Amino acid sequence: MKVIQEIYPLLAEPKKVVIIMHQKPDADAMGSSLGLGHFLTRLGHQVTVISPTNWADWLKWMPGCQAVIDYEYSQEKANTFLAAAEWVFCLDFNTLARTRSMASKLRKLPAIKILIDHHQQPESEHFAYGISDTLKSSTSEMIYDLIVGSGHADRVDKDIAACLYAGVMSDTGSFRFPGASAGVHRMVAALKDTGLNHTIIHEELFDNFLENRLRFIGYALQSRMDIFYEHNAALISIPWKDLVRYEIRTGDTEGLVNYPLSIQGIKMAALIIDRDEEIKCSFRSKGGFDVNSFARKYFEGGGHFNAAGGRSNDSLEQTVQRFIAAIKENSSQLQ
Ligand code: 5GP
Ligand code: MN
Repeated sequence: MKVIQEIYPLLAEPKKVVIIMHQKPDADAMGSSLGLGHFLTRLGHQVTVISPTNWADWLKWMPGCQAVIDYEYSQEKANTFLAAAEWVFCLDFNTLARTRSMASKLRKLPAIKILIDHHQQPESEHFAYGISDTLKSSTSEMIYDLIVGSGHADRVDKDIAACLYAGVMSDTGSFRFPGASAGVHRMVAALKDTGLNHTIIHEELFDNFLENRLRFIGYALQSRMDIFYEHNAALISIPWKDLVRYEIRTGDTEGLVNYPLSIQGIKMAALIIDRDEEIKCSFRSKGGFDVNSFARKYFEGGGHFNAAGGRSNDSLEQTVQRFIAAIKENSSQLQ
């Protein structure tokens, strides 16, 4: 993989570009993809943004979001753009498996693939150019670096600013995680200078749910949370029937995994959800416990040091038992 700076001189020549993010995109995946999309469009490129799956309603306010293609829903259309693409940017994921049913297609694609990501242990072998930097707060920050680094800081307008702000704010936990560096705050200052209204973005992301989601969170915290004080860990496990009962949709469970970390002494929290099609796991930690390694070792996953995900082919009950065994095994690192 050649360094990303090598594409900067090539940006001047218009190309057919596809931008891809990870499945069930969060605000950073969608924000970085749309932010880059707007920037490349302004430079004269023909840009198509594709998501491997659908996405949460609370992302739909983002400028350009209505034009994003859902690969699962419009596969033929998406494949036409992929076949014609000269450049395919892959944003906010480290392994092709994170693009779900697109992975096999991407592996064979003749287009030049470019990685921009901040997760650990990227599959660099698939990419001609790229940057993987785990010290970066978000992929959105990395898109801002690309725009400024390639000499186009003046191209950052209100739309780009809104997309990138949403991504960096979301991936830094509203600027509380260590990734919220001085550089991140300087970037936000520059985004504000474009006329960005950050208050509206916080409202779109956090104050825009339906009643059922809040009632579901109340129920999950009351009835589905177990605390393992001897291991400083907590687990919320959600059976499929809860998702049906509360009419839970894509994105509604985002953030739920963080609640147990607000309990004194709890250093690691897990959320295990039976999504019917698969068991999805989320892990979060505070301080020195590495959930990236934990997710890799026990749950076919990965991510960041303090935030990672994974999956399981077992039943919900078996997955919960495996989780409990795993935290027992890791109890000394959790003290
Ligand atoms: P979440 O728990 O919000 O799904 O994911 C937390 C972090 O881990 C995100 O940065 C996400 O991209 C990453 N992640 C989630 N699931 C997986 C997975 O199955 N494999 C890998 N490699 N990363 C994941
Ligand atoms: Mn991210």
